[in-house]
Amino acid sequence: GAERQNSVTNNNSPLKLFTHAKTTITEIFKNIALYVNDSNKFLDDVKKSDKNLITPEKYVEIQELKEKVNRILTIISRDHMKVVFFGRTSNGKSTTMNAMLRERILPVGMGHTTNCFLQIEGTDKAEPYVLTPGSDEPKSISSLGTVGNALSREKLDSDSLVKILWPKEKCRLIRDDVILVDSPGIDVSANLDQWIENHCLDADVFVLVISAEATITVSEKKFLHNVAQRLSNPNIFILMNRWDATANEPEMVESVRQQHLDRGLEFLCDELHLCDRKEASEHRMFFISAREALLKRNKDPTSSPRTGFAEGHEERLIEFNNFEHEFEKCISKTAVQTKFEQHTNRGKGITTTLRETTANIANRSQTLKQESVQKLTQMDEKHNLLERELRSMTESAKDKIRHISEDVYKRVAQTLND
Ligand code: GDP
Repeated sequence: GAERQNSVTNNNSPLKLFTHAKTTITEIFKNIALYVNDSNKFLDDVKKSDKNLITPEKYVEIQELKEKVNRILTIISRDHMKVVFFGRTSNGKSTTMNAMLRERILPVGMGHTTNCFLQIEGTDKAEPYVLTPGSDEPKSISSLGTVGNALSREKLDSDSLVKILWPKEKCRLIRDDVILVDSPGIDVSANLDQWIENHCLDADVFVLVISAEATITVSEKKFLHNVAQRLSNPNIFILMNRWDATANEPEMVESVRQQHLDRGLEFLCDELHLCDRKEASEHRMFFISAREALLKRNKDPTSSPRTGFAEGHEERLIEFNNFEHEFEKCISKTAVQTKFEQHTNRGKGITTTLRETTANIANRSQTLKQESVQKLTQMDEKHNLLERELRSMTESAKDKIRHISEDVYKRVAQTLND
């Protein structure tokens, strides 16, 4: 309990796996950029001294690597972890997101419906602002809550995306590169394929928020079936929200819980075949009260009427913390694997090309033999160093993630200091 609670509030959060990996791979690619520069200089000399040692095509290819490395660095700087929340209107999506953000960022309330996709992401600016589709003009955050504004249904269709840029310094989750997406109530719109195409293909995690008084609906299931068709093995969490309602019927709690659990597991395991039942029941389904979690974390009494906690809230708060911990482990692991493994392979490709080109020159040249061989030795050293760094990156991504701990941070820090 305590350890998990700590993990989501302090710097040892599993999310650090992603942020450290991002720092590491950035350093590696900066190194590769130096390596490319070096090689370019060498090839310039080679080209001057003897034209036949390198084909014009090869020369151009190596020249272009510089641009390629810079492009990859830009992509890395924009890499993030993304989670999409979905479910029927009023199940508590916005409340859950606010509780995780520890602030009332999204408008919440009976009757309020989010009619379009709302994305919360970080900004280095000090004040939050809103961006609506088709306009670069920053709008005030207060426009989110009012009717007849940027979010009114007349102006935007359900597929459009409104961005909330929130100051990174104000919120840990956002600072650690998590992007949260709230979707329109899944009962409202029908075009699920379009939604998935436009907003979900790069998502690392999906969170279905269900009301404990209801069950998973046909449209919610259909959405997830479509997601599973497009993305292999999507990470899906099911939150049984409003679990505080059970405080009124304590004698029913266990049987109701079991019923929900059975249905959820049946869906995740037997229908979608995402994981086994043990895994799903321990790591993928949680019985929470988003309202209580938000109340506990955000104590500003002016922002909403306070209605206190219901019987048994401690347990539900622990369950919410457990969800967050599992969520953070899952999203950072997935994001590192899907995003950085690709970069790692590209990095390896680049260093290999450079090495081979140099080796070729050394083999073909008599006059440059001496110099090339020296260069080659240098490059081999560099190449090996990069290989090692890249390998330790992938290893830390693949094996270490399961036991996220100080150990990972130390290794990454070591790689950086090497
Ligand atoms: P959304 O439409 O799915 O984003 O739902 P909201 O987050 O806007 O919540 C709808 C209403 O349900 C709001 O009045 C919330 O305060 C309330 N609500 C959300 N979560 C809980 C919960 O865990 N327990 C209770 N009792 N009410 C909740």
